[in-house]
Amino acid sequence: MSLKGKTALITGSTSGIGLGIAQGFADEGINIVMNGFGDKDEIAKSCAEIESKGVQCIYNGADMTKPDEITSMIHDAAKEMGSIDILVNNAGIQHVAPVEEFPPEKWDAIIAIILSSSFHTIRTAVPYMKRQGWGRIVNNASAHALAASPYKAGYVAAKHGVAGLTKVIGLELAEDNITCNAICPGYVKTPLVDGQIADTAKARGITEEEVVRDVLLKAQWTKKFVTTDQIAQIALFLCSDAAENITGTTISVDGGWTAA
Ligand code: NAD
Repeated sequence: MSLKGKTALITGSTSGIGLGIAQGFADEGINIVMNGFGDKDEIAKSCAEIESKGVQCIYNGADMTKPDEITSMIHDAAKEMGSIDILVNNAGIQHVAPVEEFPPEKWDAIIAIILSSSFHTIRTAVPYMKRQGWGRIVNNASAHALAASPYKAGYVAAKHGVAGLTKVIGLELAEDNITCNAICPGYVKTPLVDGQIADTAKARGITEEEVVRDVLLKAQWTKKFVTTDQIAQIALFLCSDAAENITGTTISVDGGWTAA
């Protein structure tokens, strides 16, 4: 079945991986609901670029820490676009600090944006998917859904939670023609990682070059950053007919990191 004409809602798609997924999906004729923060003109520009591929693109600025805004976003998008066929939970933030210095408000924000928002988008979008008898849920998790690194208590806990949620939803919806899977990328060079390089350098007292060589790509055996387009292509595969029996699982895209 072609994905052309389907609608995908991608949280956190104003930047980085989410924007890459939106662009890759639009190339396949999928209409896009964009979400995330950022400069108004930049967002309008990204939406116009997506529309230039011959698909519809709308933007909803719902804050993923606010359940009411999340549920309204799903209902509004379904009304405006006719349906939500594909949901990509991608919004995320990071904070790097030793646990005894980890600010509780950062912990709360990370859990809300990465884990709780996925629960709220899924619980609201699933009735639309059930009604139409087809749906795809792709959670952009992380290698940190499967393995830990020091100084990332909030992020690692939230991403492990996403892996658990993915399994539950995969089982619950297995007979509804709706799959739920998590992509687990290693490091992708995006604004989120750029910020992390600086923070990790500070936390470990080393230079930013040393962070890239000795921390980030140390565990990535291919010694290559993952690209946003590679993740978009894997998400598209998970939406294809070939993947209809792939559900409740994690797909590592981490250059061998979690194999070691
Ligand atoms: P990014 O900073 O470029 O993008 C994050 C997106 O989330 C942005 O669109 C931002 O506006 C949005 N966002 C943040 N807080 C939000 C909120 N409260 N409400 C709505 N949107 C919000 O980062 P990225 O690297 O593209 O990360 C995207 C996802 O990929 C995250 O979940 C991240 O954990 C995951 N990931 C990233 C990497 C990597 O190396 N970059 C690796 C594995 C997983």
